[in-house]
Amino acid sequence: MSDCIFCGIAARDIHGRIVHETEHSLAFLDVNPLAPGHTLVVPKDHYARLDDLPDELSADLFRTVDELVPRVEDAVDADATNVGINNGPAAGQEVEHVHVHIVPRFEDDGGNPIHAVAG
Ligand code: C5P
Repeated sequence: MSDCIFCGIAARDIHGRIVHETEHSLAFLDVNPLAPGHTLVVPKDHYARLDDLPDELSADLFRTVDELVPRVEDAVDADATNVGINNGPAAGQEVEHVHVHIVPRFEDDGGNPIHAVAG
C-alpha cells in the first residue's frame, strides 16, 4: 500500500532501524519507544488488522515475535516484556498495518501493563 509507513519501511523506501527479518515478517525499533528496545514486528505485506492476516503469515509473525522476545529482553537487560497489538482504531491502533509491540519492562518501572502497549 503506497501511503503506508510500515510498507515503506518493509520496502526500504522509508528508513527504519531494522533488527530482524524473515521471509514474511520484519522487526524494527519503534521511533517513539515506550522503553529502551521497544520493537515492532510486522508482516511485510499490507494487512490492516490481525483478522485480515492469512494463517501462514500470522504463524510467521508470531513465531518471529516468540524468537525476538528473549533477544530483546537480553539486549536491554529487561525483566519482562509486554507483547501486544492495538487491533483497530478504537483500541489505539494509529498505523493501519498489523504490528506487534514488544515493550521491555523493568522491575518497579511503574508502568501499567495495558497502557504500556496502547500508549
Ligand atoms: O499500535 P499503534 O498503531 O498505536 O502504534 C504505532 C507505533 O508505530 C507507535 O508506537 C509509533 O511510535 C510507531 N511508529 C514507528 N515509526 C513510524 C511511525 C510510527 O515506529 N514511522
